[in-house]
Amino acid sequence: MSLRFKRIAVKIGSNVLTRPDGTLDITRMSALVDQIAVLHKKGVELVLVSSGAVASGRSILGLNKKMDVVDQRQLYSAVGQAKLINHYWDLFREHGITVGQVLTMKENFSSRRHYLNQRNCMQVMLDNHVIPVVNENDTVSVSELMFTDNDELSGLIASMMDMEALIILSNIDGIYNGSPVDPASQVIREISKGQDVSDFIQSSKSSFGRGGMATKTTIARKIADEGIEVYIANGKKENILLGLLDKKEEVISTHFVASREGVSSVKKWIAHSEGFAKGEIHVNENAAKALCGDKAVSLLPVGATCIEGEFEKDDIVKIVGEDGQALGVGKVQYDSRKARELLGRKNQKPLIHCDYLYLE
Ligand code: GLU
Repeated sequence: MSLRFKRIAVKIGSNVLTRPDGTLDITRMSALVDQIAVLHKKGVELVLVSSGAVASGRSILGLNKKMDVVDQRQLYSAVGQAKLINHYWDLFREHGITVGQVLTMKENFSSRRHYLNQRNCMQVMLDNHVIPVVNENDTVSVSELMFTDNDELSGLIASMMDMEALIILSNIDGIYNGSPVDPASQVIREISKGQDVSDFIQSSKSSFGRGGMATKTTIARKIADEGIEVYIANGKKENILLGLLDKKEEVISTHFVASREGVSSVKKWIAHSEGFAKGEIHVNENAAKALCGDKAVSLLPVGATCIEGEFEKDDIVKIVGEDGQALGVGKVQYDSRKARELLGRKNQKPLIHCDYLYLE
């Protein structure tokens, strides 16, 4: 077997891991673990992002409709995650492989320090041949500060760990060019940079998880633009992972083709930091044009018109155009007081250096 990639993130959705009655589908889990074990033994470094905690907890305790939704999530995930990781532990153990649990939250991606700390944690696991099994810490995460879903989390992990590929396993074969239930519809096999597929995205959501095709597509595009190949495929199909990784096989999936221009590690972090922006820098039309052009340019004080909010040096700030449109984010080189002082002034050091700028 000749492998396409040596370093990957795999996300398994709740719908892959649960039966229609909501209980964990151990046979499916076991089949996926068997495939991951083959890859692991062939030297593939792999981080597994697994959903299914809430669904599993719910099936153990039974749905209590009277309970507040946050209470439900906290209770079900506390119980379900324990069960989920127990199964992974036992199933991987049969192959002599050790797994470790990483429960994380959006805040852990907010500062560069937390981000690097988290990256180090997963790298040290990989270096010691331990497979990280990652999920959101649903028991204590605050609703407004949660990941949209585990697709978003898996994208952040793939980006943070400089993976070659991200494989998102769902319960359908990929993105269809029509309704998945219409026999005339076909899976779009390849989506290249800039190709608009929004017309094909179904708004319906799968039943057990939080995500849907719309977030999958947005995340997949963003990650592919950072130079990581992304595949959306059916986790319920036999040998799907081995098929995707085997150069000689052609399995049905939607492949978001990675951009060839590499993106630096700092830029990757900044690209995912929009939700943590502390303030805004408004820029004039000339600056907006220069920033959005083909050349890499820094944001200079002369092009800035207004500073909103309070921030420290090295915080993430949003860049906003004259019409109020968000242009991107960047790591700022001054605190907000100094930045205000420099507004509109020529011959000053950049507010944001181009290496620390991520434009949409
Ligand atoms: N973290 C959730 C769980 O384990 C899943 C979130 C999602 O559906 O993407 O149940």
